[in-house]
Amino acid sequence: MSALTEAGLHTDAGPLTEAGLLTEAGLLAVWEAGRGQDAVRRALVLAAAGGGDPSAVADLAVGRREELVLALRERCFGPGLPCAVTCPSCRTELELELTAADVTAGPASGSHRIQLGCYEVDFRPITSRDLLAVGSSPRDAARRALLGRVLTSATADGAPVAAGDLPAAVLDTLAGALAAHDPQADIRLDLDCPDCGHTWTSPFDAAAYLWAELDAHARRLLHDVHVLATAYGWSEAEVLAVGPERRQLYLELVTG
Ligand SMILES: [Zn+2]
Repeated sequence: MSALTEAGLHTDAGPLTEAGLLTEAGLLAVWEAGRGQDAVRRALVLAAAGGGDPSAVADLAVGRREELVLALRERCFGPGLPCAVTCPSCRTELELELTAADVTAGPASGSHRIQLGCYEVDFRPITSRDLLAVGSSPRDAARRALLGRVLTSATADGAPVAAGDLPAAVLDTLAGALAAHDPQADIRLDLDCPDCGHTWTSPFDAAAYLWAELDAHARRLLHDVHVLATAYGWSEAEVLAVGPERRQLYLELVTG
């Protein structure tokens, strides 16, 4: 069973998208599939809705998954990414208008090699399947397991070495190389506060960002369905079949 099927996104319910945009029924299906899921499975649901092959999206580099999420987000909501952040120094609330370019860092590259002393390690980018596999392990064990999974070969003076026998310095170098070779997987924003001059970096999580927007849209939509279904006895599908403009008029008539 693929991670996506486990996540509950059933694409046989009808097309999720038309011309790359989520339909209202698609938005509700994606919302339902992502609700109550952990961050990785939710990101997979969004990446699949964004055009990723549902059977293969868990095996993409995490950065590629995030690209799919960002592309869907841009198609549905446009290139502007309004953000509200709090300065960690003076607590001023800052309103930012980021663009897709601000949170785009370039594609992951395929496999790579690092060398440290007598050690030589080949590795590939981290995928969502790797994250799911180590998700519930304690932090240090998860890190070691994750690094072990992405190793494709490790040698010391030319002789094979098990991942568990690699020294901490090699694992640290590997962790740094993984981040450098898949920059889209971990976007960091350089921020500065115009009030107090404080500068800091903040992570940007494309899937969490899009999820917050979809969640708000889905809840508004379901509220409208509730009001119109109650007033007219329509089914959910019948309410959604009424276009947004006519639906808005009916809502105004019902709610006065
Ligand atoms: Zn400040």
